[in-house]
Amino acid sequence: MDKIEKLVIIGSGPAGLTAAIYAARGSLDPLVVAGREAGGQLTKTTDVDDYPGFETGIQGPELMAKMRKQAERFNVRFISEDVVSVDLKVRPLEINTESQNLKASSLIIATGASAIWLGLSSEESLKGKGVSACSVCDGFFFKGKTVAVVGGGDTALREANYLSKLCKQVTVIHRRDELRAQAALQELVKAKQNINFIWNSVVEEVLGSDKVTGLKLKNTQTDKIRQLKTDGLFVAIGHKPNTDFLKGQLDLDKKGYIVVKDETRTNISGVFAAGDVSDYKYRQAITAAGVGCRAAFDVGEYLENLQKA
Ligand code: NAP
Repeated sequence: MDKIEKLVIIGSGPAGLTAAIYAARGSLDPLVVAGREAGGQLTKTTDVDDYPGFETGIQGPELMAKMRKQAERFNVRFISEDVVSVDLKVRPLEINTESQNLKASSLIIATGASAIWLGLSSEESLKGKGVSACSVCDGFFFKGKTVAVVGGGDTALREANYLSKLCKQVTVIHRRDELRAQAALQELVKAKQNINFIWNSVVEEVLGSDKVTGLKLKNTQTDKIRQLKTDGLFVAIGHKPNTDFLKGQLDLDKKGYIVVKDETRTNISGVFAAGDVSDYKYRQAITAAGVGCRAAFDVGEYLENLQKA
């Protein structure tokens, strides 16, 4: 008979790895399906200045590598594949990765969120040819060049700040005249000599055939169209939860976030959620890690009650 895992954790960002560390220390012997892009969104960021314990800040990828090593110290097992489908209506629960069919008594879903795109056909056809959603991954290609960043939140300003260290000029394009980003980031970015803002504007079209040459922008107040020359476009307009593989399996809200009660419990008993996949509000590494910890404790309690029943 196939082995039945006590606990499978899907996802290896701060939520999944913290759940794994606590579950391993609580003798739940967790198996983490880490995904092909292990480590989550922090692997695509640079300076993390607000994660407690690192007084001079830490790089996102380094923080994730440390969490992973910490989990490995407690013998957490990892599979470097994506989950393709799950069946949460059967017992044991079934989790299908690209090559394996796993069975588990409990599950923590910590699959996080991914970047949202503008949805333009010109954006789609120029992805990888000047259009990107990750400055850490692709910024290097724009060394000494001009780039634009779309968005007015924390992600957009972090992208702009990172790119300003590599590029000649960075233009932030925002659809309103007021930023959503935290005050400290606004101050930092506004002080940079090579970052400028275009307010009240949206991207109508990305221009170029085999590489980005510019943008067609529309003023949201006057409808006036203008063109901006640029070598690259970084889209930073928010995120959507990675829950496509869960449709029809458990309750999701209208934006696709997992619906939870008491922070971690989904509507399916034995199935828990943690991190950005169920949090549209805070979306911080520290809050994801905190809920990952709670999920591990809640699984422990669930399995104990299951044994008693
Ligand atoms: P966000 O806060 O939702 O901001 C998205 C931005 O994109 C907003 O300024 C929004 O404009 C704009 N936008 C949305 N759809 C658009 C469209 N179709 N066209 C043009 N502009 C569009 O997303 P985020 O910046 O990714 O941040 C998400 C969460 O992660 C936040 O809670 C943030 O604090 C957190 N975060 C934290 C850090 C950190 O350093 N601690 C870093 C990254 C993210 P409006 O303002 O007009 O709505």
